[in-house]
Amino acid sequence: MINGFDIAPPLLTFVPYSPTMYRTHTCGELRLAHVGTEVTLSGWVQRNRDLGGMTFVDLRDRYGITQLSFNLEARPELTEQARKLGREFVLQVSGTVTERESKNPGMPTGDIEIRVTQLHILNASETPPFTIEEQSDGGDELRMKYRYLDLRRPSLQRQLMLRHNTAQAVREYLNSARFMEIETPFLIRSTPEGARDFVVPSRMQAGQFYALPQSPQTFKQLLMVSGYDRYYQIVRCFRDEDLRSDRQPEFTQIDCEMAFVDREDVIATFEGLLRHVFKQVKGIELPEFLRLSYDEAMERYGSDKPDLRFGMEIHDLTPLTRNEAFPVFEQAESVQAICIPGAAEWSRKQLDTWTDWVKRPQIGAQGMVWVKYAADGTLKSSVDKFYSESELQRWSSALSAQPNSLILVLSGSTTKVQKQLGTLRLAIADELGLRPNDTFCPLWVLDFPMFEFDEEQGRWFAMHHPFTSPYGADYEELRENPGAVRANAYDLVLNGSEIAGGSIRIHNREIQQTVFALLGLSAEEAEQQFGFLLNAFRYGAPPHGGIAFGFDRLCSILAGLDSIRDVIAFPKNNAGRDLMIDAPAEIDAQQWKELNLKPAK
Ligand code: ASP
Repeated sequence: MINGFDIAPPLLTFVPYSPTMYRTHTCGELRLAHVGTEVTLSGWVQRNRDLGGMTFVDLRDRYGITQLSFNLEARPELTEQARKLGREFVLQVSGTVTERESKNPGMPTGDIEIRVTQLHILNASETPPFTIEEQSDGGDELRMKYRYLDLRRPSLQRQLMLRHNTAQAVREYLNSARFMEIETPFLIRSTPEGARDFVVPSRMQAGQFYALPQSPQTFKQLLMVSGYDRYYQIVRCFRDEDLRSDRQPEFTQIDCEMAFVDREDVIATFEGLLRHVFKQVKGIELPEFLRLSYDEAMERYGSDKPDLRFGMEIHDLTPLTRNEAFPVFEQAESVQAICIPGAAEWSRKQLDTWTDWVKRPQIGAQGMVWVKYAADGTLKSSVDKFYSESELQRWSSALSAQPNSLILVLSGSTTKVQKQLGTLRLAIADELGLRPNDTFCPLWVLDFPMFEFDEEQGRWFAMHHPFTSPYGADYEELRENPGAVRANAYDLVLNGSEIAGGSIRIHNREIQQTVFALLGLSAEEAEQQFGFLLNAFRYGAPPHGGIAFGFDRLCSILAGLDSIRDVIAFPKNNAGRDLMIDAPAEIDAQQWKELNLKPAK
């Protein structure tokens, strides 16, 4: 039982491979107990070693590697044939399982080999453009171009298996909690809110376009109106954003929605889901899920997705640093600091490097003040001229600093300084190895602001999305002071990544209209773009809420990887290209014509 749900027994138990016409066993399953058995295996040539009298071939499939042995004296013709086998040839072999003379304890099948009596070459192979080993010699681009070969490598095979197991564990949990898997359309209409849409021209309705969904958001809400009170879908979503290093234009979400629930119901259900996944896939019991409000997360960690695997929290030193002699701090809206334990010995060069690092345009700090709190209790700083030792002492007490630590101080506008220190905190932790990929610290971030004001565009934006319910605010507050309204939204954060986000939704037509209006949509625009939803809310929409997990990110965290690319079978590169099929690509003149489109000049 997890959170009151009966979880079906795991589906992940090992079932022996059932034989086919091509094989009796896989290349990963034969052991000493099989010695004497006649077997047939099929697979790819991993390696071929000719030792004169004996030739050994390693045969690989996705289950493992089995050694084949050929004895020149006993079977000269067969051995001659074996000697010529190239890497990645596809073979079918029959023979007897035999105990090996020199065993290989590093391999699960390392106690046995197959003494081959029959060999069929099922297909030849050209020499692959890179080595198909755990560590390949091929560069990124080359491996992307030949992704079907890269996918033969054990590391990618493990990651795709982990992805499959994760999807199974998700389905197990949600099915047993009575969620229904329902598909929603991929060809929908474009809406300007949120990221940019991928659009698809319609041939039959000239001049009109579908859009690919950024998420099934409105459809899952409509399913709640229809009475399917627990929905999920492991679903592809599409966002045409400028690609940052680890973004994919198409990605997968575990998309969920529930009716007749409040925030605590959703939180309990999906905490249970994450626990179940970690248990099934990694055998790990997750620790307690902490909770932080958005404001607290920003104040203490300078991020709305804090990594809690290490401390180094941000502390406010503003009142302690006011000093006319030092105008930088005197005039700053806020002065904030982090403390790095064990770092009092950092060299001048290291400090200069980090100072340059925070001054880069991406971070944008004006400068950085440091205080060294030495192991012997003495304090030394880059602002010794302006602050006495007893003042520095007060700073270090405010940070609860221990001897042998380093305090780094930034100043400026509060929100900027928080974000800068948040980024610095992560970079230093990376350098110090404080972010191990086998430690997991989940937390919920709650009480987000409902709206953010964009100075450039002079209007409010929904921080989550426009369907999110305000938290306890009435109409008046919504209209008069939108900046103060909190959203009934929640993010699930794991090790510094937002792995899921969701909210309790608006189910009242008038509130939804008010929110659209606040976001700058006229009544006509709202009707045109979201009329179907506003109409649905006329016919008994139940209270509802939901969440979506970033499935690729979740898999990459489970696999202990930084990038989501390696848990996706056929990913795109950083420019959004599929290098293997060479997409996007041009279309021919006939297609332009049929679609009633003209190529850009
Ligand atoms: N549809 C939202 C998203 O894709 C998630 C949710 O609110 O359920 O971010």
